[in-house]
Amino acid sequence: MYFCTMKKFLFVFSILYCLFSFKIFGQYIFPVDFPAGKAYLAGNVGEIRQNHFHAGIDVGIMTGTKVKASAKGYVSKITNSTSGYGKCLVITHPHLKQKTLYAHLHKFEGKIGNYLKQKQKEKKKTEIDLEISPNVIPVNMGEIIALSGNTGASAGAHLHYEIRTLDDVAIDPFMYQFKELPLDKAPPVVKKIAFYPLHINSRINNELARKEYNVIGQNGVYSVPNIINVKGAIGLEMLAWDVLQNSIHTFGISYIEMKLDQKTIYSANLRSIEHAQNRCMLVHINYEIQKKNNQAFQKCYVADGNKLKNYSHIDKGIIHLKDKKVHNLTIKMIDNWGNSSKLSLKIQDNNTSFSNQFIPDKSLTRATLQYKVIENTLMIEANYLKMKGKEAFFSFSGVNYPVKLSYQIGKKIVYLWDLRDGLPDAVEAGGVRLPLFFRKMIPPQQEFWYKSKDLMIKFPKNCLFDTLYLEARPQSHYLDLHTNFVPLFLPIEVTYFSKNVPKNAQAFAGNQLLKSIALIGGVKFNTRQLGRFFFRPDITPPLVQFIKNDGKTIFLKAIENETGLDDFKAYLNGVYLPLDFDSKTNILSAEKDSPSHVLKGNLEVFVSDIAGNQKKYYFKI
Ligand SMILES: [Zn+2]
Repeated sequence: MYFCTMKKFLFVFSILYCLFSFKIFGQYIFPVDFPAGKAYLAGNVGEIRQNHFHAGIDVGIMTGTKVKASAKGYVSKITNSTSGYGKCLVITHPHLKQKTLYAHLHKFEGKIGNYLKQKQKEKKKTEIDLEISPNVIPVNMGEIIALSGNTGASAGAHLHYEIRTLDDVAIDPFMYQFKELPLDKAPPVVKKIAFYPLHINSRINNELARKEYNVIGQNGVYSVPNIINVKGAIGLEMLAWDVLQNSIHTFGISYIEMKLDQKTIYSANLRSIEHAQNRCMLVHINYEIQKKNNQAFQKCYVADGNKLKNYSHIDKGIIHLKDKKVHNLTIKMIDNWGNSSKLSLKIQDNNTSFSNQFIPDKSLTRATLQYKVIENTLMIEANYLKMKGKEAFFSFSGVNYPVKLSYQIGKKIVYLWDLRDGLPDAVEAGGVRLPLFFRKMIPPQQEFWYKSKDLMIKFPKNCLFDTLYLEARPQSHYLDLHTNFVPLFLPIEVTYFSKNVPKNAQAFAGNQLLKSIALIGGVKFNTRQLGRFFFRPDITPPLVQFIKNDGKTIFLKAIENETGLDDFKAYLNGVYLPLDFDSKTNILSAEKDSPSHVLKGNLEVFVSDIAGNQKKYYFKI
């Protein structure tokens, strides 16, 4: 929330813009055959997912469909994981200076599968990530490399396919003119817009508050009915997506451009995604609203800490009207097929800086105070102040400081405080005291250690997108560490001491276990999210049950309810046997290696959970 100086940065339309209109034909073949027609598309590049932009296309196909190499090259990476991309492989194409990636696979074919098995035996580990040199596994264009599946973080059978530069910038496969990609004429749709105040003096409809507005229209022509009253530095957000005729899915919009009157002040080209910065998606959208309402409002301005290179802008796309005239805002959206939509609206600085229509709420028997942090501003909202609430007292280490009211609307009185001037520990107004739990102002972009009696937090360099006015509130059964409405780019390391943390406890964010170390009287954990943390011990190792042996495959079930399975290994008659784990069904399985391989004898299974509890199981099969 460090407010950027309003210097003018005029960015020349970049290479990304050239990419947008540039199309390449014939360099690659589509990774899956569709003899009967077009592929079924379930995802595209630029689509907003939970914590990243989708960087490839999702092709809906049955598990077991043959996957082909898009061009000649060599297998440069094999990943066998129960999360993320699941079973995944990357082919490097040196002659094209690019790579292609195939994810959520069911099985690797032939020499690729054999290579993986050999490495699993050498390392005695199922989940591995292999970087492979050129010439080890060469492949030809069209060669069958795998069977498609539903492994890792995948909710249905599909192939996730990416084209990348050698330094991992994903490029939209739509630029390669695959004849298998479906055709479409439906332009993007826009549902709502919102304005967001970026400065203590910003107002939207006379208030320092984010306000949403409904959009009307259809078939690519949209508008907002009334003139919106805005003052100061504000940002526009938009709830919009692309649609496909006859599809239940929603898709990402490839290109967004915003004009203030005749001038383009912001554009985003989402046809390429730099993997190293992909998590900046969390500040491309309004993260708080995504968490609260599960709606991804895309910002039409470049927020502080957003390092993506997909934007061209003037003043970061921030709107700041300098007169009282009515101004036009137009937003153009273009989809993967070149279909476009236009949204038009009018804004005006018609701010009545002070409203005197104060109406005390007689139904309240005592005043209520609420607070909110918007960028660098602490906002205190007070209801029912008999004296019209001329001032509130902000307390700093017990010393009270009077703060005049900023504005009043209806039954509400608002006091504003710039947190860069200090962190108050309480506010008093109308005879009510509101305690606050600020600990420290944490700067972004540099490593920072926060230390107090109960809490020590290491903030690595660039882990924050923006300045954090850290709030912490230990409770008897949990720890509130700020709110989960503020995103982190990198994990932070938290050490927490409290008599309420049980012995051998692991830290959880909701039900999600965090990498933790139990300490005497406390716990140390890494987290990539803020919010509420719980602490529970795990002293039970995973349970393994034998299910069946059909001669070709052995099936076992692993039950681990507390923290989660960490490692698993099997030995058949003393020889390492690679196991596969399906996290969706908790099934461990091992296939026979070759026709002569017999699955019979003494099976020894070793399992451990994330808390470090381990156990060996013996089965006679
Ligand atoms: Zn995907």
